[in-house]
This record gives sequence, C-alpha cells and structure tokens, in this order.
Amino acid sequence: MTSTIFTNAKLADGLLRDIHVENGRITAIVPVSSVPASGSVIDIAGDLVVPGFVEGHIHLDTSFYGGKWVPHRPCTDGFDVHERVAFQAGNMAKAEPMMERAVKQLELCVSHGTLQMRSHVMVDGSVGLKSLETILAVREKYKDIIDIQLVAFPQSGILKSPGTAELLDEAIGLGADLIGGLDPASFDRDVSAHLDVVFDIAERCGVDVDIHLHEGGSMGAFTIEEICARTHALGMQGHVSISHAYGLGDLAPDAARRIAAKIAGNGISIMTNAPGHHSFPPVALLRDEGVNVFSGSDNIRDSWWPYGDGDMLRRAEIIGYRSGFFTDTELQMAFDIVTAAGAKALRLEGYGIEVGAKADFVAIAAEHIAEAVVGFPGNRKVFKGGRLVAENGKTKTPRA
Ligand SMILES: [Zn+2]
Repeated sequence: MTSTIFTNAKLADGLLRDIHVENGRITAIVPVSSVPASGSVIDIAGDLVVPGFVEGHIHLDTSFYGGKWVPHRPCTDGFDVHERVAFQAGNMAKAEPMMERAVKQLELCVSHGTLQMRSHVMVDGSVGLKSLETILAVREKYKDIIDIQLVAFPQSGILKSPGTAELLDEAIGLGADLIGGLDPASFDRDVSAHLDVVFDIAERCGVDVDIHLHEGGSMGAFTIEEICARTHALGMQGHVSISHAYGLGDLAPDAARRIAAKIAGNGISIMTNAPGHHSFPPVALLRDEGVNVFSGSDNIRDSWWPYGDGDMLRRAEIIGYRSGFFTDTELQMAFDIVTAAGAKALRLEGYGIEVGAKADFVAIAAEHIAEAVVGFPGNRKVFKGGRLVAENGKTKTPRA
C-alpha cells in the first residue's frame, strides 16, 4: 500500500488542509497536523489545490504543436467546414508522424494540469481507422498519466464519405468510447439520415454521443431539437453532448431560453471553447436554465487555427472574458466549466477534492480560484493518483 500526506494544501474555501492519499485515492482531508508524520509527506506550501482539469474536447490526431509551423490558410469566402477539411487533408499528408505530434500535444496539456480528456479522432473513408489505431496506442502508453476518452469522429461527414457509417461501427469495436457526428444539415444535408447512423450505433453499442455542431441560427436550433428528440426517445439523458452549438449564440434570449430548457430536460451537455470569431453559446443563460456547460481547447495549432496552448485555466479565462464575467461568482463559474462540469459531461467517477475521490489534483500558486482564472499562473505541480506527473511545465515520461 502506498500512502502520502499532502500537507499545507489550500482548498477552495481558503483553509489549509492535509490531504491523505492511499493507493491513489483521497482517504482523509483534515486540519494541518503539527505532529511529524512517519510516512511520505509532500509539502504543498500553501498553494491552491484543485481537481485536475477536464479537457473536454480536443483533437489529438490533427495538431502540429511541437512540429514545424504550418501557416494558416484562410477560406476563400468566409468560414467553410468543407474547405477547412480539404486544407487539413493536405496539411496532414505533409506533417510529422501522428504519434509524435499527439504525444507532444498530450504532454502540453498534462503539464498545465489536465488529467482527464476527451479527444475526437478522425474516422472517414480517406484515413479509415489508422488515426484511431495511432491514438489508441498513445492512450495506452500514457494511461498512468492521463485518462482519455476517444470519440469516433466523422470529420468528412457520414453520408458524404462512403463507408464511414461502417467504419464508425468498427471504431467502437476497436476501442473508441463514444460516437461523434458533424453538422447533419449543413455538411451532410440530411439531418435524419445522419442522426439515424449516430444514434443507431449509440443504441446498439451502448456508447455516449458527442456531436460537432457548427450550424448557426435557426438551422443549428433545428438540429439541436432533433438531437433532443432522439436523446429522449432512446432514454439517453445524461449521455449526449453537443460541441460548439454556435447557433445558440445567434438566438434572441427568449428563444435561447426555450431551447435551453429542452437541452437541460434531456440532460444534454454543451461544449464551448469560446472561439474568438464566432457567436458561441450564452454560457450564463444556459447554466441558469440548468444546462451543463463544459469546455475544451478544440484545435491547438492545427489546420483550423494557429491558437491554443492546452491550458484549461487559460480556457476558463477566455470563456469568462468573452462572456463578460467579472465577479468572483462568475469567475468561479468559468472555473467550474473546466473542472466539475467537464467531469459531469464525461461521466467521470471519483472526481473532485473529497474523501473517496481519485487523488488527481493540481497545485497552483494562487490565493483563490478567481485569481487562478484571471492569472493562470505557471509552475504548477500536477499529481495523478497522488503521483507527481508534471512540474515546471514539463510532463514526466510514462513508466515503461
Ligand atoms: Zn472539434
């Protein structure tokens, strides 16, 4: 049995505590003891200790982070998903090996304190299952450092890319945890046929759903209502996420509240990375209506944009900045989106700083959560199962 006491750990309530960890789980949280402990002790020295961040939406297969710089190529006539997918295919053909790129991106995220992740991985007629096989190997190698869920993601559509429906099925058999989707109306031009494939796989294979939805305005709202209807019909409340849902940001507040009530009623989570060039979901309104809103980096230095650093604390700041969050309560809301709300969307077991939870936490040089969100301090110490996995911006190499 391994046991460690993390002493002088400042919790969210501002109090210093000793966190007792045995075999990777928190067994006690008690006032700081003045009696020298006999076993292993790690002094947190008054840093703020928070649960490991939840990176709820990333693409491990497509980033160029750590490799050669790939200049961004703009679309010819505004944002066009088809064109971006074509640019991406050209860039990927010239990129460094996927395994190397994925590892660099993963280590970047862990170095900032991410210990739980959901990555979409491209599955389509052109790449088949090759990307998934590579990312599955990365997940296996890093399994003691970070927990990763993989979404079989039809980046080229389902109906537009022959053979993709069958490949998505195979992807689940191979080890993908969730089934994805992409713009059923604007990309595949057939909402029912697209969602039939997605929800059929979800039902048959017993997996959760996470759909990319870039569709704006009333088109996006229509697709969301269709997703709500299918979630309800299959009793999948709590098992479905919609990523981006830009359309919610185009609606007038009354209309947004009406659809938010349906989203909340079906236990659907909404993922936003608060992108700088799009309307994006009204975070506070959605939460007021009971919708679980979580977040992720999405693209990090890839064919979609050159931004992203894998820091979920910085992502909380971006969400707060774009949402007009100023009060401590609002800043704590932004923090919740990259921690507990992410854990809820990913249905994580044993999340949080509490007795019985996994000892997955981050020590940050901040007075309190509000300061951490606006300052996103560096030099964090990251512990997985009570074991140090990253410090000073560097992730440890996985044990052989
Ligand atoms: Zn994405």
